[in-house]
Amino acid sequence: MNYISTRGGMAPQRFSDILLGGLAPDGGLAIAERYPRFTLDELKALSKLNYRELAFAVISRFVDDIPADQLKALIDKTYTAQVYCHGRDPAQADQITPVVKLDEALFIQELSNGPTLAFKDMAMQLLGNLFEHVLTQRGQEINIVGATSGDTGSAAEYAMRGKHGVRVFMLSPFGKMSPFQRAQMFSLQDENIHNIAVKSMFDACQDMVKAVNNDAAFKARYKVGAVNSINWGRVVAQAVYYFKGYFAVAGEVGEPVDFCVPSGNFGNVCAGHIARQMGLPIRRLIVATNENDVLDEFFKTGGYHPRGLDRTYETSSPSMDITKASNLERFVFDLLGRDAAKLAELWRGVDKNQGFDLDPATFARMRDEYGFRSEKSSHADRIANIREVFERYGLQIDPHTADGYKAAKAHREPGVPMVILETALPAKFEDTMREALNQAPQRPADLQGLEAQPQRFDVLEADAEALKRYVAERVPV
Ligand SMILES: *Cc1c(COP(=O)(O)O)cnc(C)c1O
Repeated sequence: MNYISTRGGMAPQRFSDILLGGLAPDGGLAIAERYPRFTLDELKALSKLNYRELAFAVISRFVDDIPADQLKALIDKTYTAQVYCHGRDPAQADQITPVVKLDEALFIQELSNGPTLAFKDMAMQLLGNLFEHVLTQRGQEINIVGATSGDTGSAAEYAMRGKHGVRVFMLSPFGKMSPFQRAQMFSLQDENIHNIAVKSMFDACQDMVKAVNNDAAFKARYKVGAVNSINWGRVVAQAVYYFKGYFAVAGEVGEPVDFCVPSGNFGNVCAGHIARQMGLPIRRLIVATNENDVLDEFFKTGGYHPRGLDRTYETSSPSMDITKASNLERFVFDLLGRDAAKLAELWRGVDKNQGFDLDPATFARMRDEYGFRSEKSSHADRIANIREVFERYGLQIDPHTADGYKAAKAHREPGVPMVILETALPAKFEDTMREALNQAPQRPADLQGLEAQPQRFDVLEADAEALKRYVAERVPV
């Protein structure tokens, strides 16, 4: 399997080559040159597999430059009941992504049972093992420099902790994360994990990371890399749980199922699109947003108009406070019949913050052929829906999953099972949960007292040169 760029300007590469890279050299995103497809009979066989077997069956179709036995070993050590241990029912832990039934046709698929209680662990844990494997094979190292306001940074750190050949330098705004998030990251004592609290806001952290990446000489000398949401390995690993969820709820393999996905960077739901292209009978993919509704606007009108930071709202589903959906480019590439020239033209507008509008025929195809729908939520919706799910079903859901619940209710149709993807556990968002339920959210037993553990972090001024010195002092060259 070869990988090409959505903008047409990259010589075909293998999986291991694009795994460690960021953007393609032409500014596009790496994507499989075609999607492997399962027949109905093959799907029926897949439906009998456990999560690890299913993950191998799906992922190995995209990876042919890691020997099968080695890929299998990496997958087997990733998707275990010990790693994904934070579910509601411990007896279900080996399901990895257990499905909870709300009513006869409405389900929640748990994707947040990994170490950091958010769905990003689903892909990031595998990525950590893949990185270590590829780097060891090549005798290389990578230094991941990133910025986080919460979920992504912790998922990356828990995936990369203790991994050979990988160091993580993670910037976060000093004093701005919740006590739980801070404790989750700063309590890590692994030598290859460096938490850097920056005396400023999240934007300043991002600017520092950008400045490091714009210094080509520094970047090359200190082998600076990233694990952001455009990483192809993450998207592929996420496709697996759509298969798992489908098989859990479909009456018979072949019948249609709808999925509803809380979205920000379009990474999670992009994996759903790929699963659908691989032959999984997904009927609709419903994109749920919060007040940052760029994607809702796109799927309702065909107009994609990313916004600047000045028009990005801080909401109570903060991991979706995104107004430029980096993975959307992969879907639009497919929507345009994989016409890289046309895609590049549209994204020239996006890169200049102008956006684009689809023509009516393409817009119709997006809804009819690709099955996309969308919905947005407000803070009041979130509170009301957290309350409703708790009262009706006795289940605590987090604010992001609540956005999904609202969208699922708006779009469900009789006779078609609907799966809402849970993207985090309520324990991560204590303030909003208290507002909705007048009580502290449930917290997994092994994370009681997390905030009291010793914390390890350094404080830096918001200064890119200070960050470069910090990295240089810790990376032997
Ligand atoms: C990252 C994240 C999202 C958004 O996922 P995308 O892949 O960026 O669309 C939603 N909810 C939670 C809790 C997240 O951490």
